[in-house]
Amino acid sequence: MSTASLSYDVFVNDPPPQDGFLPNGEPKRFSPMASTLIYGNEDAVLTDPGLTEDQARALGDWVATRDRNLTDIFVTHGHGDHWLAAGLLAERFGARVVASAGTIAQMQSGVATRPMLWDQLYQGIPPSPVTAVTVPGNRFTLEGHDLVIVEVGHSDSDDTTVLHVPDLGLVVAGDVIYNGVHMYLGASAAAGGFGAWRDAIGKVEALQPRHIVTGHQNRKLDDDAGRTIAQTRQYLDDADELLATETTALGFFNAKVERYPDYLGRYVLWVTARALYGVREHPGGNPAQIAAASWL
Ligand SMILES: [Zn+2]
Repeated sequence: MSTASLSYDVFVNDPPPQDGFLPNGEPKRFSPMASTLIYGNEDAVLTDPGLTEDQARALGDWVATRDRNLTDIFVTHGHGDHWLAAGLLAERFGARVVASAGTIAQMQSGVATRPMLWDQLYQGIPPSPVTAVTVPGNRFTLEGHDLVIVEVGHSDSDDTTVLHVPDLGLVVAGDVIYNGVHMYLGASAAAGGFGAWRDAIGKVEALQPRHIVTGHQNRKLDDDAGRTIAQTRQYLDDADELLATETTALGFFNAKVERYPDYLGRYVLWVTARALYGVREHPGGNPAQIAAASWL
């Protein structure tokens, strides 16, 4: 009765093609999206399977090369870029889709708004019925090893979670932690600032991971937990500082680009800037609606 050890590997999908340009003249470009395959001798679990049919095909072909039985697909939070393609992968591999109850509720509302948001931005997003189920006590297993869904509250959206794999010292962090990529801060205005997000980072740190795989990352970077946590905190601190000194969305965008010249996903930075300054400039407005409109 030996207990085999687990391993994990990461696939980083390219962002889908997109029309339009940023204020500095660059083409709009979403962030690269990372999926983690956690695997034993025979079985495997996949996280955050992406948005479009093309991404699902590339990710699925990569999963197939690992030659494992894919039992579960775990979704960290309700944003469509993390799961709208889940159905294609679930069907291809006969896998179950798993999420927390809070995430499943966010997925339901995401399906309702996708025609006004994701379908306006990208071609080839598959049908996306919400088939995710909860698991008892937010725990499931892979060849006898615990996979623990940890609810961390608000980060880049409400009701976000991470997946803790104690036997690997691994946290799959969704969009709670970022790695070399601009962070989406647009929902923070409605949340009254970054306090809840900082609490969420603290909950990840308390798990004492050695490795953190972030939902968006530069594929050239490693997954060192201490570095990614520190850089995520620093990015929020810088945002607070720039919100106090920059008077326009464009000023915020330019200042962030200057401080983070190597960070990917400047489209997300521009959306963030429009959302944060849009809320500031329309004090009577609905922050969630202003944030949503900032994507278009
Ligand atoms: Zn995301």
